[in-house]
Amino acid sequence: MQEHKATNIRWHAGEVTRAQREALLGQRGCTIWMTGYSASGKSTIAAALERELLQRGHHAYRLDGDNIRHGLSRDLGFSAEDRAENIRRIGEVAKLFADAGIITIASFISPYRADRESVRASHAEASIPFLETFISCPIEVAERRDPKGLYRKARAGELKGFTGIDDPYEAPLNPEMELKTDELTVGESVGLILARLQEDGLLHPAQQ
Ligand code: ADP
Repeated sequence: MQEHKATNIRWHAGEVTRAQREALLGQRGCTIWMTGYSASGKSTIAAALERELLQRGHHAYRLDGDNIRHGLSRDLGFSAEDRAENIRRIGEVAKLFADAGIITIASFISPYRADRESVRASHAEASIPFLETFISCPIEVAERRDPKGLYRKARAGELKGFTGIDDPYEAPLNPEMELKTDELTVGESVGLILARLQEDGLLHPAQQ
């Protein structure tokens, strides 16, 4: 965790509460944090889930690994420190979106447990629901899919520090959900997430 550089700063709560925003939207803000190997299916499931939520009248928004690296994290690479800073930034952005009342879908490899745990802790501190969702499949399956040709490059030594090849992936120990994409279709995974959101009361505003 980085030190605060700025002093003399104070949180301004504003005059509208999260509950009021959520009542307006008819749902609760939350973060669905998808983690897993490259090509495990995070982006595919996130996009399908976002579409399905919108079709059902819910305001959802997707934060996606490559997209974030085009802007917010364009100054970061893939060293352990840069990965940690990338996840910290995304965690903070996801928290802001969720605080706005939006069902926020974050899909990032986020290979290190400690980084994910600190995002979880910062959501807990703000009382924002955080659903760690392990998008899992055996590495061999991910490597066989290889939609962006990245495993091939990593095996050829053209890409260093690739998760699952020469950089570790620390699987979640206690995720809210695990979706095995070598066993489930995309539609089945989306259905399971929707069921969980419903079960947790996130598709309706909280009772006042
Ligand atoms: P990630 O975002 O985890 O890197 P992607 O979603 O970009 O993964 O790529 C996963 C690839 O695997 C896609 O080409 C997708 O069509 C394919 N795929 C095959 N079966 C599944 C499944 N059951 N669930 C998710 N993706 C699947």
